[in-house]
Amino acid sequence: MGRYGSIKLFRLFGIQLELHFTFLLLVAWVVWASWRDGNGDWTRVLWSTSLVLLVFTCVVLHELGHCLMAQRYKITIHRILILPIGGMAQFGHIPRKPLRELFITLAGPMVNFLLAGILRIFLGSPLEWIYADFTYSLKDLLFALLIFNLAMGLFNLLPIFPMDGGRILRAILALRYSYLASTRAAIYVAMPLAAGGILVALLYENVSDIMALLFAFIFVGGQLEYKMVKRSEKLRGWTVGDVASKNFISVPGDSTIGKAADLIGNQPMIEALFLRDPGRHYFISRQDFHDIPSGVNRDAPLHPFTRPVSIYLDAEWPLSFVSNKLEEMDSAIIPVIRGGVLIGVFNTENFVSILDNQ
Ligand SMILES: [Zn+2]
Repeated sequence: MGRYGSIKLFRLFGIQLELHFTFLLLVAWVVWASWRDGNGDWTRVLWSTSLVLLVFTCVVLHELGHCLMAQRYKITIHRILILPIGGMAQFGHIPRKPLRELFITLAGPMVNFLLAGILRIFLGSPLEWIYADFTYSLKDLLFALLIFNLAMGLFNLLPIFPMDGGRILRAILALRYSYLASTRAAIYVAMPLAAGGILVALLYENVSDIMALLFAFIFVGGQLEYKMVKRSEKLRGWTVGDVASKNFISVPGDSTIGKAADLIGNQPMIEALFLRDPGRHYFISRQDFHDIPSGVNRDAPLHPFTRPVSIYLDAEWPLSFVSNKLEEMDSAIIPVIRGGVLIGVFNTENFVSILDNQ
């Protein structure tokens, strides 16, 4: 099993298809529930299980619609993940071209409408459907699938960002307005609709409570994505070097605690102290330095209290790139290098507070 409990299936058009293990629980539940409700009628179990698997095949085809359109624009696709609540295609970086985003997004629901149209050919006249009785036949199965595809296509077109409809709205707005303003407008439209969806799902008996959960996910997902857009918009054109602070001192590798204390003591702005060791840098933050027990001899070497620098940031790197990597950084203070030389320190805590302060 891979990361986060997903199981790799196979590749479709070069795209890895993965199944989350909870999806298997859903299938097991459907088998059990249909067996119980049908008093052990295996036709019914087969019918219900086939329906679930076919429904999720349509979900994958919907995601594949997005992916194939994205591949036309040379966008890399990491994978399609199948969860019990639906499918998710994970893309690499999508360039900000509103028309492209519009076409990529439209391609998903269009697949559902296309599938509904194909099923319609197999099913014959709509008049027959009304009088058909629910007998767990093949025709019923196809009919249920047709309804599902219509519903999925329409549901995804609801303008609730980050659902397809919300993305379409943002792309149309972004043709004229800035990307950030368009995302904000799409969120303002989405919030009351998602909140309304949660309420309707909870209040009405015939709407499943799972829908409330789904709308809650959408609500939170929209907020997160807005935050990311806001961050990268703020950081456009800035590099690590632009925000690196010069508040560090570099001392010889054999320095004592006493010498370091003298240096750091009369410079209140200093955030970190680096030890120049041939081959590798060691460092200690101001806070950690103050936490060295007072009983330790001033003539003791500083080296045992420092830690090796494991990550560097290059001064030339774009800040938007770094902001997506913050979780991977093991320390609040990261050294910044330019051409192999230590030129400053990057304080991740300060950076996050600057980012989120607006
Ligand atoms: Zn979609």
